Amino acid sequence: MATAPKPQTGTESAEKEVLLRIEGVTKIYDGTVKAVDDVSLTVTKGEIFGLLGGSGCGKSTLLRMLAGFEVPTKGKIYLAGQDITNLPAYQRPINMMFQSYALFPHLSVWENIAFGLKRDGMPKEQIAERVEKMLGLVQLTKFAQRKPHQLSGGQQQRVALARSLAKRPQLLLLDEPLGALDKKLRETTQLELVNIIEQVGVTCVLVTHDQEEAMTMASRIAVMSEGYFLQVGEPDTVYEMPNSRKVADFIGNVNMFEGVIEEDEPDHVTVRCAECVHYVGHGISGHSGMSVGVAVRPEKVMLSKNKPKGDYNWTEGEVIEIVYFGAHTTYHLKLASGMVLKAQEINSTRDLSCGLTWGDKAYAHWSNEAMVVLTQ
Ligand code: ADP
Ligand code: MG
Repeated sequence: MATAPKPQTGTESAEKEVLLRIEGVTKIYDGTVKAVDDVSLTVTKGEIFGLLGGSGCGKSTLLRMLAGFEVPTKGKIYLAGQDITNLPAYQRPINMMFQSYALFPHLSVWENIAFGLKRDGMPKEQIAERVEKMLGLVQLTKFAQRKPHQLSGGQQQRVALARSLAKRPQLLLLDEPLGALDKKLRETTQLELVNIIEQVGVTCVLVTHDQEEAMTMASRIAVMSEGYFLQVGEPDTVYEMPNSRKVADFIGNVNMFEGVIEEDEPDHVTVRCAECVHYVGHGISGHSGMSVGVAVRPEKVMLSKNKPKGDYNWTEGEVIEIVYFGAHTTYHLKLASGMVLKAQEINSTRDLSCGLTWGDKAYAHWSNEAMVVLTQ
């Protein structure tokens, strides 16, 4: 009777080469603020791993411990098998790119990228070769002599990336890398960044509070809250099979019903809620009489003017809001219980096909596979 997916810890990718291993890491500031709470994780070579969570949940603190700017209160950090928990930042083959790119304003693009290499005493010819290569990688060869203020936000971001990669770190840490860009630019830059990271093959831990960004860029994500991981997994798994109400609520839009399990069979359960009875086409690890949440994504809810057949998985209400997004439209249906149900319809043709308008009475229905039953 499997249900709500087990939290994945990352150990299932053991056959791939592990680059980073975090074991039971805790950080307590000033003896009282528990910023990171017993976090364990493995990241494999070449992976882009996303740390996702709201403000203040401990993302930056975890990243800063990986970089060596903070020492864990408890736990161990290993890089390629070596214990680096207490290794100073400058001795780690790790580079961190900050939210504010921190480019030197008086130095050219070329000099910004060369800065760290010069400081390390790399021979001149080698520096030149490396910088040219980095400029090519981020497609800024033509801009080598410009100063940061003569570049667009996206270009500045690429200079910062080139500078971070110039020393060929084994691990690249990105803290809200696109925070300074507007929405449209963020979307294109996300893909550019992933392309560059994959070309270089560098392993990457990315921090963001933006779930779309995490899902677009990362191969796996951890959803963080109050210093610990709620769930770790591939983006589509976390989206389709959240393991708790908190994760379901944090990742994307969701309709959350509260109810009680009636039938509990290996191949299905039914959950009675104030709004409807859900027939869920798989078993769960619960028992009848148990209080559970049932999550249904708006894109899995279909609307109709006619009453759906059968006793399960439908409800009725009044259209109180229609929000047009271009590619899709979201309808808000006010139910008798007071709950507002969201249903998202794709605008695949130019006429608005379901033909509903404000104030209409409508039925909403969904399939036996559309729900996730949440026991916590
Ligand atoms: P996030 O990056 O997810 O927004 P942070 O890691 O910056 O979260 O912060 C986590 C918690 O630790 C917050 O409550 C924050 O106030 C606290 N914190 C962060 N840095 C320090 C510090 N240097 N001293 C004391 N408390 C800190
Ligand atoms: Mg932060």
